[in-house]
Amino acid sequence: MLVVMNKNAAPADIEAVMGAIERKGYTARPIPGGERVAICVLHNEGPVDAAYLAALPGVKEAIPVTRPYKLVSREAQASDTVIEVGGVLIGNGHFTIMAGPCAVESEQQALTIAGMVKKAGAQIFRGGAFKPRTSPYAFQGLGEEGLRILAKVRAETGMPVVTEAIDHEVVDLVEEYADIIQIGARSMQNFSLLRRAGKAKKPVLLKRGMAATIDELLMAAEYIMEGGNDRVILCERGVRTFAHHSRNTLDISAIPVVRKETHLPIIVDPSHAAGRRDQVIPLSRAAVAVGCHGLMVEVHHAPETALSDGPQSLYPAQFDDLCRQIGPIFDVYKTSINGCTEAARKTL
Ligand code: PEP
Ligand code: MN
Repeated sequence: MLVVMNKNAAPADIEAVMGAIERKGYTARPIPGGERVAICVLHNEGPVDAAYLAALPGVKEAIPVTRPYKLVSREAQASDTVIEVGGVLIGNGHFTIMAGPCAVESEQQALTIAGMVKKAGAQIFRGGAFKPRTSPYAFQGLGEEGLRILAKVRAETGMPVVTEAIDHEVVDLVEEYADIIQIGARSMQNFSLLRRAGKAKKPVLLKRGMAATIDELLMAAEYIMEGGNDRVILCERGVRTFAHHSRNTLDISAIPVVRKETHLPIIVDPSHAAGRRDQVIPLSRAAVAVGCHGLMVEVHHAPETALSDGPQSLYPAQFDDLCRQIGPIFDVYKTSINGCTEAARKTL
């Protein structure tokens, strides 16, 4: 249930509505909007008495939320969420490029790649310090040392950094060093990790599980928002199919669906979808054309020697090419009928 307040509702009216909701044993979560405040009713087990809430002073209407996810739904918030991190904007009319190696391997490796991707147009640096590897014998990441290197990259380049917290135990450390906490595909339904991320003071990049439906992705985001962290960025990174011409199958169709269902930004990771570098640029072009808010791309200056995901990492010159190619596609998308401006949305 969403209680929508009148534009000119007094703060006392809003508080009274919240009090009325809490007295019934539910949680009242205000959702400030540009035009008006709405209050989302959470944790109700049975139906909520809409007529009672609608009759309270200052209330415009009480409308049911028809989706299983509430805070992430467009019903709760019609306008796109824009997330600011270290001066970089993600969401709505902004296009954000995150790039870097799969794993931080050394200070020199990270700084070399960071300089190259920044020059090409990346705004945020990525690099794993804790790596979720299929094999326990594969490189697991540098751990805290990797986080320290990421902090150095930020200090030297000015780029905010995103890195994965592979489990609940490392979130404290990742939160301390990174600007965005990544939750990987394998952890999308690690509910204790999602709950901890909900308490974090940093934005969360939530990757779609390789066998997750869009509803499951949005419910995972709901866990984080329910915990109090409303800065969630979604990421489509390919799902497992019968195909073996690529590592995963990039679900391009997820982007317009997610954009319709939620106000949260969604970016695309073509690297983990493809698993091979020759598909990364074409998939990036397609992802921009269907309306994602940004890309996360793996880049390595010497992919043949990379400690993880070398075959899918772009050479810096290829990344440069990618950045050049997507600008005009984003411009076409922005001005199209399915574009992300509010004005365009209203005409749909
Ligand atoms: C990553 O981005 O480093 C990663 C491991 O990706 P995913 O969780 O999508 O496999
Ligand atoms: Mn990788």
